[in-house]
Amino acid sequence: MQDKLSLMIPGPTPVPERVLLAMGRHPIGHRSADFQKIVKRTTQQLQWLHQTKGDVLVITGSGTAAMEAGIINVLSKGNTVLCGDNGKFGERWVKLARAYGLNVQVIQAEWGQPLDPEAFRAALEADTAKAIKAVIITHSETSTGVINDLQTIASHVKDHGTALCIADCVTSLGACNVPMEDWGIDVIGSGSQKGYMMPPGLAFVAMSDRAWEACKHSDLPKFYLDLAKYRKSAHADSNPFTPAINLYFALEAALEMMQAEGLEKIFARHARHRAAAQAGMKAIGLPLYAAEGCGSPAITAVAPEGIDAEAMRKAVKEKFDILLAGGQDHLKGKVFRIGHLGFVCDRDVLTAVAAIEATLQDLGLHKGSAGAGVAACAAALAQG
Ligand SMILES: *Cc1c(COP(=O)(O)O)cnc(C)c1O
Repeated sequence: MQDKLSLMIPGPTPVPERVLLAMGRHPIGHRSADFQKIVKRTTQQLQWLHQTKGDVLVITGSGTAAMEAGIINVLSKGNTVLCGDNGKFGERWVKLARAYGLNVQVIQAEWGQPLDPEAFRAALEADTAKAIKAVIITHSETSTGVINDLQTIASHVKDHGTALCIADCVTSLGACNVPMEDWGIDVIGSGSQKGYMMPPGLAFVAMSDRAWEACKHSDLPKFYLDLAKYRKSAHADSNPFTPAINLYFALEAALEMMQAEGLEKIFARHARHRAAAQAGMKAIGLPLYAAEGCGSPAITAVAPEGIDAEAMRKAVKEKFDILLAGGQDHLKGKVFRIGHLGFVCDRDVLTAVAAIEATLQDLGLHKGSAGAGVAACAAALAQG
């Protein structure tokens, strides 16, 4: 059916009509007073979302641009960094840091498992020479549906004294609590097509005072992603280059909706959807991929033993117009992922579980009693 596609993937995520309509107007001049007003307002809204009084800068690009900017503006040639890797995105930041010639020490965990904060504590404590300049980790590892313990890792970075804490919060910001200042995070990267309820196209980098201090000495090459330029402009309610103006209209509208809902309620909604998706899958005998207790509030990865996850995912799309995400790399065909990030309501999660259950029934692969997934999902939604 036309125009019925429901996105249940971890980005791009569904966009509210109000946000789409906000974009549907002529662009305005990016050096105009009207645009300055929008930059001023969205800057305050972004600080609210990040729970910081520091700078949150807007770049035209995807989430990776935000992380690249965050890394290359605070580090220098040959610096040593400690990088957490327990999935596709952790792997990406290792590659990115190596592309800039950084000396990368990797702390790995198996896919599906969370990073061990103790491994970070030990490595940081052993670094008496203070060679480690930054710790780079992915808060919500979207590829595996695992949430890492950023708070504890950030506290170990703080104890180190000089290393910076750089976090990919692309699928945690706007899904669960990420109090930047309280946790002492120095750089946070995120992207508009995830928890922001917006189309892709804007990337956000939040910087602490410590990050700006490091920025002064950073000698890695940069031009378009030179955050000092963005900061200078932001303080004049502007942007150094032509920004994606219509996406700014969307940003203002989306953040206004988020502020009306309130952070606590947004986090509770995501926690409820995680519980409901997990309960639904367990009730129909589909094992979760993420280790128990480590499920991301944005995405539930499912490893249906003995079932071709890709075939199931395609059937759900064809029959029900619900797009689920597949497994990445070696997980292709073995894992499917239910995105419940951003503009997602109880009905969406209940429907996704029902569609998965109906598809299994149709394929003759349903193991439990009929309707067990929907019942468990509904019960979890009622509790939350
Ligand atoms: C989506 C995502 C990104 C950014 O990917 P882009 O395609 O560059 O927007 C980064 N980290 C995580 C964990 C993500 O889920």
